[in-house]
Amino acid sequence: MNSLVVLGATGSIGRQALEVASRLGMEVVGLAARSASDGLAELASAYPNARIVAADPQPEAADAFRTRFGDRFRHGPDALVELGTVEGATVVNGVVGAAGLRASLAALAAGNRLALANKESLVAAGPLILEAAEAGGGELLPVDSEHSALFQCLIGEDSDDVLRLVLTASGGPFRGRSREDLVEVKAVDALAHPTWKMGPRITIDSATMVNKGLEVIEAHFLFQMAYDKIDIVVHPQSIVHSLVEFVDGSLKAHVGEPDMRVPIQYALTYPRRSVGVADSFAMAGVTLEFFEPDRSAFPALDLAYAAGRAAGTAPAMFNAADEVAVEAFLEGQIGFLDIPAVIESVLSRIEALPVVDVGGVMAADAEARRVARDLIGSR
Ligand code: MG
Repeated sequence: MNSLVVLGATGSIGRQALEVASRLGMEVVGLAARSASDGLAELASAYPNARIVAADPQPEAADAFRTRFGDRFRHGPDALVELGTVEGATVVNGVVGAAGLRASLAALAAGNRLALANKESLVAAGPLILEAAEAGGGELLPVDSEHSALFQCLIGEDSDDVLRLVLTASGGPFRGRSREDLVEVKAVDALAHPTWKMGPRITIDSATMVNKGLEVIEAHFLFQMAYDKIDIVVHPQSIVHSLVEFVDGSLKAHVGEPDMRVPIQYALTYPRRSVGVADSFAMAGVTLEFFEPDRSAFPALDLAYAAGRAAGTAPAMFNAADEVAVEAFLEGQIGFLDIPAVIESVLSRIEALPVVDVGGVMAADAEARRVARDLIGSR
């Protein structure tokens, strides 16, 4: 339990996981990133016992890494997947996008603990992730702050006693704006997020509330809860990380300063806790607000519920269509409200199929991307 593999090591989650791990005294045995970058080289030097993987490097950069790090270094998508299977390791998966899916499956099938920050794994292939965990005996621990909150609120409870899960949403930079107000917003406006610091895709996903939609689907699989029992509340302060309401009217909430290192650490130390980075929470004078989400300004929410209920490959297509639409928005090719419009069109044009294997999920993902690009191109 004391050895750690970090997939997506140079990203925000990966770096925070390494910081937490060093405080916990865990041994870092594997580090993976997409490219053979300077950032990965620095980590390779800082962790001389770790195996190093670049999933998709430039050939020259891969050669330079091989010269410098020898047998410790491997590259290619299979090397990334294999790193997740290091015996007895806790695997943090902070890889962005669908590339993280096979690594998640392999880690769980190998019986490892998977600290999952890669949303696509559960969204696109929830049934496969649950099967892999069951078959391999791997443990699935959420890293996302909302899901860590729900996970902690559910400990010791019977799922029959749960009335609903309530995911909190900061509301993003456009909270309070009407649909009309959102027509003209640009990428720079969306990239200024009020409370959490994140990468560009997740920041846009937070502005459209696609991110919250993806989190609803994640929660459905993680906690095996019907969509009717998962709600969203807008909570601008991001102090309450999520809540569980029980049939007797009791509510449990997970509360604290927004700091991703806290849920990351919990995923590594569960079921124990360890002294962390967070200062004692100064609650005097703190005001907490809660609002209903505006489903007309943020139609991605209802689209996510619809994709979740359609099941099969629909959530994978929702995710893929969004990824393409966000890229187009960042490049100024489409407007802000076109992001959910593209997702909706893609979902209405392609029939969802049952999720049976990774190949089927990837095919649905590719088809959704193709249709999304066509729609964007014809605008
Ligand atoms: Mg979150």
